[in-house]
Amino acid sequence: MTPTPMPAVFFGHGSPMIALETNDTTAAWKALADAMPRPKAILCVSAHWLTRGTAVTAMPRPKTIHDFGAFPRALFEVEYPAPGDIALAERVKSLLAPTPVALDQDWGLDHGTWSVLCKAYPTADIPVVQLSMDATISDQARFDIGRSLSVLRDEGVLIMGTGNIVHNLGRMDWSARYGAPFDWAQRFNNAMRGAIANDTPEAVISYGALGADASLAAPTPDHFWPLLYVLGVRRPGETASFMTDHIEHGSLSMTGVVLGEVDAATLKAA
Ligand code: ZN
Repeated sequence: MTPTPMPAVFFGHGSPMIALETNDTTAAWKALADAMPRPKAILCVSAHWLTRGTAVTAMPRPKTIHDFGAFPRALFEVEYPAPGDIALAERVKSLLAPTPVALDQDWGLDHGTWSVLCKAYPTADIPVVQLSMDATISDQARFDIGRSLSVLRDEGVLIMGTGNIVHNLGRMDWSARYGAPFDWAQRFNNAMRGAIANDTPEAVISYGALGADASLAAPTPDHFWPLLYVLGVRRPGETASFMTDHIEHGSLSMTGVVLGEVDAATLKAA
């Protein structure tokens, strides 16, 4: 009997300040983690690690990176001391061959990763490896990298992406966190959500076809890209569910996607 693959998850991470908050989103992240089998390790694609060529963190103790500017001191004091997993880094490198993958010694865990994991897995005792996003490859290539890594789900690895489907900082309405979203933000988010629910990833890969809505939702694509890697790991006919689904400040979508079987009752309790 083939074991059920570990679910794969895309987290809408929003502002790094969420690391200091307790709210419905952080509760949903924790409930999701509690509803899944405990991962042997976590492989994370963060919006905040862009490189030329692909790299994986390959150090025994990745440092917590505070990769942001004007935020309160308490945020700079957050540490997420999860161990690394050098064997997993090497496995990722071999799965992506012949594409070269650098075994990185300099990065660590950026806030795209730890602002989510400090809520989902607060004890920081599951090894974490980050996979960088090569800024020079196509959107199809990002999806294909996910495909190549999907087998890790059968080995107890949680593959996750962390970004935002809609991420327009310039248009954010700072006065109303939970106010009505911009029309274009809601339309784009709905279109992507529909494509994920219907398992038509080609509509996500070619999101630029949505024209002005896409340009406004992803004026820079870095927060959108992690979704492509996560959708690549999906198995044929696999269920997608949305553990979070709202837009903050008009233009920041917190929509989160879970691929695979989770205990729905536990999720709903959040
Ligand atoms: Zn971010």
